[in-house]
Amino acid sequence: MTQEQILQIFKETGAFLEGHFLLTSGLHSGHYIQCARVLEDPRKTEVLSVELAREIPEKNVDWVVGPALGGILLAYELSRAFKAKNAFTERVDGAMLLRRNFSIPPGSRVLVCEDVLTTGGSAVEVAKLIESLGAKVVGIAALVNRSGVVLPYPTASLLKLSISNYTIETCPLCKEGKPITKPGSRSSSVKL
Ligand code: ZN
Repeated sequence: MTQEQILQIFKETGAFLEGHFLLTSGLHSGHYIQCARVLEDPRKTEVLSVELAREIPEKNVDWVVGPALGGILLAYELSRAFKAKNAFTERVDGAMLLRRNFSIPPGSRVLVCEDVLTTGGSAVEVAKLIESLGAKVVGIAALVNRSGVVLPYPTASLLKLSISNYTIETCPLCKEGKPITKPGSRSSSVKL
């Protein structure tokens, strides 16, 4: 698949939005990525995961591990592509942990995955955790690398973007007077 075809899937599903957005970091951006919107469709997730698996030079993978929440579904689908097992890590009081009695044996070959790489910080934290268990990190895989970040592990990503974020002072969209929205803030609730 070409970058255009992959981007088209992200646009069709609402996983890639264009506009003027206030990010949770407080920065502004002309683009917003919400991988949950593409992962909500198992068929599209399968197609993209098989495509991402092709991008990973290492084929000998025992486990695929991603951080909650963003990495859980992708880890599951990638583990299917590699006929591997999958687990997810969780952040508790700031520390990345492997809970739920997941047990990754020392010597296992582990692919770390994340939905979107921005700084790649969480993926690297997962990789360090895996190494602390005596397992080997064979690479990091992501659906989207939104900033062209380079990590200290072999890294594969499906959609390679270069999205700029701005402070209020430097935001060109603010200068144009374009109304800003906070994506992902709308939620449904039921009163009991
Ligand atoms: Zn702005």
